[in-house]
Amino acid sequence: MLDCAPPMAAQLLDGKTLAAKIRASLKQKVDALVQRGVRPGLAVVLAGDDAASRVYVKNKTLGATETGMHSEQHLFPKDVAEPELLAKIAELNADPRVHSILVQLPLPPQVDSARVLEAIAPSKDVDGFHEVNLGALLAGRPRVVPCTPAGVMRLIEHAGIALAGRKAVVIGRSNIVGKPLAHLLLQKDATVTICHSKSSDLREIARAADVLVAAVGRAKLVGADMVKPGACVIDVGVNRLPDGKLAGDVDFAAVKEIAGWITPVPGGVGPMTIAMLLENCVRAASRE
Ligand code: NAP
Repeated sequence: MLDCAPPMAAQLLDGKTLAAKIRASLKQKVDALVQRGVRPGLAVVLAGDDAASRVYVKNKTLGATETGMHSEQHLFPKDVAEPELLAKIAELNADPRVHSILVQLPLPPQVDSARVLEAIAPSKDVDGFHEVNLGALLAGRPRVVPCTPAGVMRLIEHAGIALAGRKAVVIGRSNIVGKPLAHLLLQKDATVTICHSKSSDLREIARAADVLVAAVGRAKLVGADMVKPGACVIDVGVNRLPDGKLAGDVDFAAVKEIAGWITPVPGGVGPMTIAMLLENCVRAASRE
């Protein structure tokens, strides 16, 4: 069904290598901006002591500094009051050194996440979660595209997989992954189906997909019986197994025997998410 003839065993969609290339080219863009007197700046806001969030924040700020950007972290305790976070966002919105603001989710339960995300100036919303940016995407005029969906699209594009007229199935309908990704696939003329926890016949729907994306958060949700031979399978999920190892939503060992293309976890979508975050930050600074 796909334009390129699928190989016998799945070809790996190597996000780690592609992300490293993107970051190297971004570094050159940052150097050029610095020559013009503009150093792209990323501010990360983290509230609470969630271990996974701390690792994500560390990787994002490290990525920014390695690319030559200015980066800063603003850490708050888990009992932070919402007005305090809103005041910090207002301060960062007005700070000319900061071109991009990232609020690490999840926020503590006493804080209304939507209110905090909406307080970020849309032009500094590096994650593309502000309603203005999500609306622009829905209208087919994307401005800041959410990083994980953008990374998935870049992996598909890099592999030379044609989307026009193909069936794409996205499992998961979150505002940060599933929904924006479905719109990006639609904009490339795929015929898109979105599945969620209430979908019936998930197996049958998934089996029809030329491009199958799992963005759920359940290890081994997608088995070989849900995959069409030769399909492109993208695994967004990140799950911590009882033995401490990371696993995606796809049963990698079984599905790689039947898929045409597959992303590993780790080393697939994760590094692409950070590369797209850095790209969004460079774009924001370039608009200055
Ligand atoms: P989320 O907000 O929890 O959304 C999960 C989605 O999966 C929901 O739409 C839910 O349906 C659906 N779902 C749950 N159980 C299902 C089932 N049995 N069958 C079909 N659909 C089901 O999660 P998220 O933020 O989108 O993240 C999804 C996964 O991606 C997580 O593992 C997360 O850690 C990972 N992630 C990875 C990256 C990366 O860079 N690699 C970035 C972001 C997220 P309902 O809407 O009906 O509840």
